[in-house]
Amino acid sequence: MSDIRVENLVKRFDKTLAVNGVSLDIDDGEFVVLLGPSGCGKTTTLRCIAGLETPDEGYIYIDGNVVNSLPPKDRDIAMVFQNYALYPHMTVYDNMAFPLRMRKLPKNEIDRRVKEAARLLNIQHLLNRRPKQLSGGEQQRVALGRAIVRQPKAFLMDEPLSNLDAKLRVYMRAELKRLQKDLKITTVYVTHDQAEAMAMADRIAVMNRGRIQQYDVPTEIYNKPANTFVGGFIGSPPMNMIKALVTEKNGEIMLDTGYFLYNAKDISSILRDKTGGEIYIGIRPEDILLSTHKSDDSVFESEIYVVEPMGSNMIIDLKLGDDIIKAVIQPTTEFHAGMHVWVGFRREKVHIFDAKTEELIV
Ligand code: ATP
Repeated sequence: MSDIRVENLVKRFDKTLAVNGVSLDIDDGEFVVLLGPSGCGKTTTLRCIAGLETPDEGYIYIDGNVVNSLPPKDRDIAMVFQNYALYPHMTVYDNMAFPLRMRKLPKNEIDRRVKEAARLLNIQHLLNRRPKQLSGGEQQRVALGRAIVRQPKAFLMDEPLSNLDAKLRVYMRAELKRLQKDLKITTVYVTHDQAEAMAMADRIAVMNRGRIQQYDVPTEIYNKPANTFVGGFIGSPPMNMIKALVTEKNGEIMLDTGYFLYNAKDISSILRDKTGGEIYIGIRPEDILLSTHKSDDSVFESEIYVVEPMGSNMIIDLKLGDDIIKAVIQPTTEFHAGMHVWVGFRREKVHIFDAKTEELIV
């Protein structure tokens, strides 16, 4: 077990700045997910930790020691990739035993560790099969088994579930999380799937364009996104962002979207010095309230553009001038496309971002 520290990591490929000053502290036994869109630098960060890429600037520490000049094999870290990279001609047993034979461990110790890992992963009955006789999920377990038997200081995983179908993926993510908690092995896990990150991580590092946008526990990332990128990346559907001008009318701070006025009475002291500036109102779909009646002056009228029944809930697309915002509500037959409804926001769930810097104001 180990802690990992990444300090001001910079990595370029010719003119591409793949990683641009990433710093991360990963505690002993922690499960940290690097989350972000394609090309944001997740894999490159992971490969620098593994020693498969050499940083241009910055330091990687494992257990407090700088490992920049240590080759991958001396870092005592196990990688699990998206393509499981199993040896097709070897049995499951031999695939798992292979890294231990390379290290010249005694035969009985190899046997003990392979059987223990097989028990943990529930693949004891598959030990004599070859990879092509296994399902995707089983192959994934074997790949994990091969990482576990080494008893490494840390696991580094790059989209390990992305080759599995949606149902198996959801099943395996819980299995993997449970296994990581049982083994207490520090894990860095790369994914572009925000639901996977939310479900598995102790902490999530949200990345964009080679930089960490926010590094925090999942609930904070969800409830207090540091900027519009994080708000828009997390959640399905993501947070609605509505541009508005901060105005003052009769001493009250009003946010003018061009479509409706939002009275920012509870946050006026914070927004007063932004008067004349532009902001985004960030509101999650589940924090939008819909009604067929006008309850008070805080609600505004909108037309339902489309209704998307999802089973356990429904998504309502609402017209806001030329834009669409999405609300998520309990299933009901009350609403249909073309209907006019009254729309309100849960006030305590409204986020305000600066339109220029895109950073959270309140
Ligand atoms: P994905 O989810 O698509 O794997 P990622 O977030 O893991 O994306 P990286 O693979 O780290 O992103 O890539 C970051 C940037 O660096 C991208 O623009 C990519 O094209 C570039 N890059 C990565 N590896 C190399 C390489 N070996 N040579 C040149 N450019 C590279």
